[in-house]
Amino acid sequence: MRGLLAFAALFVAVLGKETFEGHQVLRITAKDEAQLALIKDLEDMIHFELDFWRGVSDVASPVDVRVPFHSLQSVKVYLETKAIEYTIMIEDLQALLEKEQEEMEAAARAGGARSTDSFDYANYHTVDEIYDFQDMLVRENPNLVSKIVIGQSYEGRNLSVLKFSTGGTNRPGLWIDTGIHSREWVTQASGTWFAKKIVTTHRSDRTLKCILNKMDIFLLIMANPDGFAYTQTSQPKYRMWRKTRKPNPGSSCVGVDPNRNWDAGFGGPGASNDPCSQIYHGPRANSESEVKSIVDFVRSHGNLKSFVSIHSYSQMLLYPYGYIRTPANDQAELHSLAKKAITALASLYGTRYRYGSIINTIYQASGGTIDWTYNQGIKYSYTFELRDTGDYGFLLPANQIIPTAEETWLALMVIMKHAYKNAY
Ligand SMILES: [Zn+2]
Repeated sequence: MRGLLAFAALFVAVLGKETFEGHQVLRITAKDEAQLALIKDLEDMIHFELDFWRGVSDVASPVDVRVPFHSLQSVKVYLETKAIEYTIMIEDLQALLEKEQEEMEAAARAGGARSTDSFDYANYHTVDEIYDFQDMLVRENPNLVSKIVIGQSYEGRNLSVLKFSTGGTNRPGLWIDTGIHSREWVTQASGTWFAKKIVTTHRSDRTLKCILNKMDIFLLIMANPDGFAYTQTSQPKYRMWRKTRKPNPGSSCVGVDPNRNWDAGFGGPGASNDPCSQIYHGPRANSESEVKSIVDFVRSHGNLKSFVSIHSYSQMLLYPYGYIRTPANDQAELHSLAKKAITALASLYGTRYRYGSIINTIYQASGGTIDWTYNQGIKYSYTFELRDTGDYGFLLPANQIIPTAEETWLALMVIMKHAYKNAY
């Protein structure tokens, strides 16, 4: 057995596979500002190689952080000597990851879907499977769905937007994107489910039918396809990739946070100028083609009435602003609409969401998507943080995909209906 283990270790070393063996996700809670500052200091202790799943915000909000095995002891000692409370949120990250991979492989062995009816919505899928899904959906519904390629990712993958339209020209539009942070897998999976939901209910659902009589819906399921592909490579450690995949000149660290790269308070607080940071804002606003392509689309369309950008996790519905404390002009309306949306969401499975402006609900973040779209005049600009609140974090079990998508859809319908009613 010992020999076998040694062989296995050698095998791993030769292949250069790095796993999450021994990694844990800790939930750290500050009891005052002084402790919060001490937790924030961990961000600068680069040698620990910490991965903040939920960043440092305020005393009321816990911080979730993935701690590699080699730092676990030191980080726990650091917290304990400073009397900072923490719990082990995920004890064995590698086990969760292996379960996720096994389920995906089992689904792949079952064979690819030949139609969007037989597509397995209750499982996670590869980049190529989702591209195929999109093409099938367009082929099956030529009078409703078309595909618009708004640009290419850094590595040359298409940024394909599904357009749902019953006709007309220059109709007002409603935008939804998922997966701009690649590791947030439940978002791309939900986007796929939304697409099918639209084609199956656009006649029977009165509200949706009315909306599609006057407006078009645009859905970008893989807003960061390079990052998404990277989370699916054979190296398990890349499962946690968040950023784009463009190299940064002068640094060995790759990628930009595509939710810090927009031209709204670009480079301000809540973004980093360190290319190795998970929240690196990039060399300039719109430097990432994944961002620039959406910017160009929004500008050329010129008539989007709502813009919803979907992330995970934490269960929150957020509106502008993130980069400044000044309330948005439409704060009162955005707030009451958010409340309606999360009430509808909770009606299905009782899933509870928090809601409010980004800066008041999570933390100050500059260069974010919906701050820019709001400043472009798209009043109903929202960001979702889908399930869960941390039990699984980014590794949400596949059996939660459909319930997550179903409940989120109810909230989306509230927002889209309101935008529709107020569009004319
Ligand atoms: Zn995100």
